[in-house]
Amino acid sequence: MAKKQFQAESKRLLEMMINSIYTQREIFLRELISNASDAIDKIYYKALTDDNLVFNREDYYIKITPDKENRTLTISDTGIGMTEEELENNLGIIAKSGSLAFKKENEAKDGHNIIGQFGVGFYSAFMVADVVTVISKPFGSDQAFKWESEGADGYTIVPFDKATPGTDIILKIKENTEEDQYDEFLEEYRLRAIIKKYSDFIRYPIKMDVSGQ
Ligand code: ADP
Ligand code: MG
Repeated sequence: MAKKQFQAESKRLLEMMINSIYTQREIFLRELISNASDAIDKIYYKALTDDNLVFNREDYYIKITPDKENRTLTISDTGIGMTEEELENNLGIIAKSGSLAFKKENEAKDGHNIIGQFGVGFYSAFMVADVVTVISKPFGSDQAFKWESEGADGYTIVPFDKATPGTDIILKIKENTEEDQYDEFLEEYRLRAIIKKYSDFIRYPIKMDVSGQ
C-alpha cells in the first residue's frame, strides 16, 4: 500500500523524536494519557449540551496494557475517537499544538530538559516505539480506522474493526541497544511510577491491564 507523506514540518519533528538522545523519554506516556483525557473531556462536554447523551462516569477511563511477549504497550481510551479525516489531519500534520512552539524553542537552546517542559504531543510516541498504530472509532459512527506509521517515511490509513468508540494507541516498543534501554516501558512498576509522576491529576481512572507476562 502506498504510504502517505507527512508534512515537511511534521517530518522534521518526527526525525528529532526518533533520533532523540533525550533522557526523559518517559514523558511520551504523559502526552498520550493527556490526549486520552482530552478525548474523554470531549464526550463529557458533548453530554452537557446533548439530552440524548448521558455521561456515565464508570464508562469513561484510560487503560494501559503492557505486553512483554509482544513488546507492545497499548494506551486505550473510551473517548470521542477520530474519523478517517481526523486521523489524517490530527496525526499527519502538526497544526496549532504545542509541538511547533517546542521545536522552535528547541532549535535555539540545547535539547535537554526542554522536551519535558513543553507539550510535545503525539509524536513523542516515536521516542520509545518504532511502530505506532492508532485504532480509532469515532463517537456516533460504525466505522473504525487504523492509522500506522514507522516514522518519518509516512503513514497508512485503512478501515478496521473496533467494537466500541474510542482510541487504542499501540506502541511497538524499541529493542534495547547498548546505549538505550526501552524494556522498562513494559514494566508494570515503572509505568505506575511514570503515571504517578506526571498524570496524577488526570480526572478519569487510569487502569492497568497486564498481559503476556
Ligand atoms: P495537542 O494535544 O496539543 O492538540 P497532540 O500532538 O498531542 O497535540 O495531538 C494531536 C491531536 O490528535 C489532538 O489535538 C487530537 O485532536 C488528536 N488525538 C490525539 N490522541 C487522541 C485520542 N486518544 N483520541 C482522540 N483524538 C486524539
Ligand atoms: Mg496532546
